Amino acid sequence: MKILLLDIETAPNKVYTWGLFNQNIALNQIDEPGYTLCWSAKWLGKKEIMFASLYKNGKREMLKQIEDLLNEADVVVHYNGTRFDIPILNQEFLSMGWGPPKPIQQIDLLRTVRSRFRFTSNKLAYVAEYLGLGKKVQHKGMMLWRECMAGITVAWRKMEEYNKQDIRILEKVYLALQPWIVNHPNFGLYVFRDRPNCPSCGSGDIQKRGLARTQTLTYQRYRCMSCGAWSKERYSNLNKDQRKNVLKGI
Ligand SMILES: [Zn+2]
Repeated sequence: MKILLLDIETAPNKVYTWGLFNQNIALNQIDEPGYTLCWSAKWLGKKEIMFASLYKNGKREMLKQIEDLLNEADVVVHYNGTRFDIPILNQEFLSMGWGPPKPIQQIDLLRTVRSRFRFTSNKLAYVAEYLGLGKKVQHKGMMLWRECMAGITVAWRKMEEYNKQDIRILEKVYLALQPWIVNHPNFGLYVFRDRPNCPSCGSGDIQKRGLARTQTLTYQRYRCMSCGAWSKERYSNLNKDQRKNVLKGI
């Protein structure tokens, strides 16, 4: 299973405004809408961190490269990407006159963080630091974005460093959350062994742990010794004697 970790950075909208506090910005106050500045991506388990930007590559090349990666991936992992990164990229692809990229499964880690835990903040920076998985690159905030939009080389260097570090953190957070992700795309469909695999990480090191029951069927339940995820057999094919054996731990 080819898992792509992805994070994009965007420019803010440029708008005219009379006031500073609590403004409602009308459409005719927009000077220039926001756009994609750059992206960083990495294949899970591979060393290289990829990066492309408006500044380095130009719009077409930057978008083409990420479109190619999305077409190659089976799964994309992001943080709030179902609402942010992916729709923004789709909009960019549309604006280029391109069709949609290949449909792929998405793992939005923000959804897992929101649904399974109660962190004080659900921001990636907070969660990563809380778990001791690293810190984001420090920068000077909005000024960095403004300097990148103005084409200042040192600012772009910092942006690249920032974007790439986010991907390192994203990968670590993904690996920590892996057994907690509900309905993780099934690794078992990609790993071919004659015995069951962990659906969350693909490991063959799984142990039988009693039975899983639905309203009508009984399944063998497993726990992964690599990532800790729980899973169950695909088919409920246990007869009465087999069920007794499983309950006895045989
Ligand atoms: Zn596992």
